[in-house]
Amino acid sequence: MANTSAHRFETVVLGQGLAGSALAWKLHERGESVLLVDRGDESSSSRIAAGLLTPITGQRLTRYPDWGQCYDAARKFYQFVEKQTDERFFSESPMVRLFASRQERERFLKKYRDADDVSLCEESALPQAVSSPFGGFEMLSAARLDTKSYLTATQKYFESRGGYREVTLSLPEDLQIEKDQISVPQLNVVCNQIIFCQGFEATKNPWFRDVPFDAAKGEILTLNVPDWRESRVVHAGLWVAPENNHRIRIGATYEREQLDQCPTEAGRTDLLQKWNQLQNVSREGDIVEHRAAIRPVIHGRSPRMGLHPNDARLGFFNGLGSRGALLSPVLADQMIGLLCEGIAVDDKYDLHQKVDLT
Ligand SMILES: Cc1cc2nc3c(=O)[nH]c(=O)nc-3n(C[C@H](O)[C@H](O)[C@H](O)COP(=O)(O)OP(=O)(O)OC[C@H]3O[C@@H](n4cnc5c(N)ncnc54)[C@H](O)[C@@H]3O)c2cc1C
Repeated sequence: MANTSAHRFETVVLGQGLAGSALAWKLHERGESVLLVDRGDESSSSRIAAGLLTPITGQRLTRYPDWGQCYDAARKFYQFVEKQTDERFFSESPMVRLFASRQERERFLKKYRDADDVSLCEESALPQAVSSPFGGFEMLSAARLDTKSYLTATQKYFESRGGYREVTLSLPEDLQIEKDQISVPQLNVVCNQIIFCQGFEATKNPWFRDVPFDAAKGEILTLNVPDWRESRVVHAGLWVAPENNHRIRIGATYEREQLDQCPTEAGRTDLLQKWNQLQNVSREGDIVEHRAAIRPVIHGRSPRMGLHPNDARLGFFNGLGSRGALLSPVLADQMIGLLCEGIAVDDKYDLHQKVDLT
């Protein structure tokens, strides 16, 4: 018999990381009733991420494809959430990238001669605290999302409207998939659809566990460095991001074997070595925090989304890799198009182009 006292939502979003949060906001913006469910893990990938939105990365100095469109969507979205929550967590500010070699500098000059959002650094514009024998360049359109503040503000906003619950759901036991509704008895909730935004935990999801992940663990250190005066994020083999209270964060490692959230001695040593090589005077820096999490990378490195072929009330939105802050808003729009208008997602993001779940 139908449980008439249960709270009814159109959509339950399981997982309140960057993916689930963006999706929930977009549904809420359309006037849909949505419940966000998360286990409240302080070491989730989204919570420990540095939240950098960086246009040009890698040794080949590659600009992210569709950077302009993704960045505009991200800026507009985070500014909208700031307004709704009356909190500040998105800041636009140039970043510096140091050249690792003369060849890299030449590659830059060839590739970005006519670009108007990057510029070669004059001597005086190079970070003073680090050695930069080959110079560097500034990325003028770049930003940073304070992910922890954004996720907390989102959680509070939805919680105050009865749209957030902190609980770990065991799958499939905690869901009752019925003909005309999906029930979550533990929460006394019923809904019409559930979208799984679980990050790497999706590997345990009985409906989507065949999605091939190629995840990468990452570690980050927070250091206390009273005399660090550089206010920009500096990229140079690692990134150095200033925080408040004389603190900086440095990161991040990539590790594909040991996929857990445990900080390691090897990760710490790797980051400290790179940090020491970067500086022109030796600064020790007390370690204030050492965190690790798993980036949800799907094989082929493209995010994926879709509905289950055997039950379209079960959705999947995942694989944001190392660019969750940049990509979650623009890709949540695609997921909304699919959920609310039945618009097919781009092939490169379509889950069914990647895996057969029938
Ligand atoms: C070290 C490091 C540095 C990074 N730096 C950056 C950066 O600078 N810029 C950037 O854009 N990206 C960065 N990333 C990547 C970014 O963190 C990811 O792209 C993003 O977090 C993925 O978000 P998600 O919501 O898909 O997954 P997650 O963050 O993993 O969120 C999934 C959520 O679902 C919850 N959950 C899962 N299963 C259940 C369940 N059964 N019941 C209840 N809750 C559940 C989890 O607890 C979690 O809160 C970094 C990642 C790491 C590890």
